[in-house]
Amino acid sequence: MRRNPLGKTYSYLLSDAGTLIDTGIPTKEGLDTLEEQLSTLDLGISDIEKIIVTHMHTDHIGLINRIQQKTEVTVVALKEAVNVQRQWNKSRDTAFEDTRDEIAAWGGSDFLEQFSQYEHVFRRPRWRLKIDETIADREHLRIGSHSLEAHWTPGHAREHLCLHDAEKGILFSGDHVLPKITSHISHHTYLVGDPLGDYLKSLDRVRDLPVKTVLPGHERIFHDLAGRISALEAHHERRCGEIIAKVREGAETVFEVSSVISWDSRPWNEMAFWTKRMAAAETYAHLIYLRNREKVEENLRDGVLVYETA
Ligand SMILES: [Zn+2]
Repeated sequence: MRRNPLGKTYSYLLSDAGTLIDTGIPTKEGLDTLEEQLSTLDLGISDIEKIIVTHMHTDHIGLINRIQQKTEVTVVALKEAVNVQRQWNKSRDTAFEDTRDEIAAWGGSDFLEQFSQYEHVFRRPRWRLKIDETIADREHLRIGSHSLEAHWTPGHAREHLCLHDAEKGILFSGDHVLPKITSHISHHTYLVGDPLGDYLKSLDRVRDLPVKTVLPGHERIFHDLAGRISALEAHHERRCGEIIAKVREGAETVFEVSSVISWDSRPWNEMAFWTKRMAAAETYAHLIYLRNREKVEENLRDGVLVYETA
């Protein structure tokens, strides 16, 4: 087993089975790095037979196209990935309107003029991942010398997959559990649900697996899975506490709450429009979570969602 650092995204090779877990970003540099790493094992792109994707974010699936231009590969993902693609495709025709309405419902009507400049981006044809084989949750896979169990871990992405090798005590954690970064948990316009609730359940799901080594999608290999999960839970609990406090102090809408809570990256008023929208989607995921657990009350007032403490 080898590790191929492609910039900041890791791709893992099960070398005796020509199987790659994730691919990295869609750049020439990414492909060159992959080829370079394969060559240290006397392998080339044509030795890759299968790619398993942990989730369908560009930094993990981006290189698939370029690999496919060079060799025939089977793309494997969790069953839910097919459903997510279906929802994504169905949403295409109304994506601009849906996103615009959502920004308004979040109390962001001041941003609508700026948003409308991006209409053409929403109208563009969309690339879609062609999935050749699907894996069921808890399915056992025999891949070369590896015996892997699939764990559906929705949260960071609805279709997120972790792979556990119980014999070797290894967890391929994708972006579900990273050693330092808190994975972005966000609401997606085209998917109805409770992503933070899903995420916390998914953390529980992997907490007690026999794991000695975690191989994540970014940063670095680490070992204390349960410790890291506790830290992530504490982070979200603090975040929820902060949001409740701001709602109690009078922040009413998704954008208002977002503008008064603290952000690790940069202060709210220094964020560009799309960063603000991403931050608001993260806040909304927390508000959905709190609403579903009756910590805050959500009401619709003149087309705007307003919150108060329950
Ligand atoms: Zn990632």
